[in-house]
Amino acid sequence: MYCRYCGKKLPANAAYCVDCGVQVPNGNKYCYNCGVQTKPEQDVCLKCGVSLTGKRISTPYAGDKDWLTTLLLAIFVGSLGVHRFYVGKIGTGIAMLFTLGGCGIWTLIDIIMIATGDFKDDMGRPLKKD
Ligand SMILES: [Zn+2]
Ligand SMILES: [Zn+2]
Repeated sequence: MYCRYCGKKLPANAAYCVDCGVQVPNGNKYCYNCGVQTKPEQDVCLKCGVSLTGKRISTPYAGDKDWLTTLLLAIFVGSLGVHRFYVGKIGTGIAMLFTLGGCGIWTLIDIIMIATGDFKDDMGRPLKKD
C-alpha cells in the first residue's frame, strides 16, 4: 500500500507513514492501492479501480502462533528448522533441517527477525505477542 498523503510505498500493515508520519490511511492525494496521484474529490482510483472513500484497507489479522514459543524454538533448536515447522513453513523448515540452518547463519537471521517482530507465519501473519 501507499501513503495517501505523500505517495510513499509502505508495508501492507503500516499504521503510520514512515516518510511523513501521517496516520494511514489519512490523506487524499494518492491511491493507497497503486500509488497513482488522485484528486482529493475522487471517489475511485482511475488506474486500479479501488474505492478511495471506503478505506477498505485490509490489515492482516494476527496469527495464532506464539511469538515467544517461536523465538525459543529458534534459539534452542533453530538449526533444525523447528521454529519454521511450528509456524507452518514446512518447505523452508525442511531446507533448514538439511542445511543445519544454513550453517547457523540462516537460523541467526531468523532469530533476529523473530526478535524484531519481522518474522511472519506461513499465511504472512505476524506472530502473536502478548
Ligand atoms: Zn506519507
Ligand atoms: Zn489505484
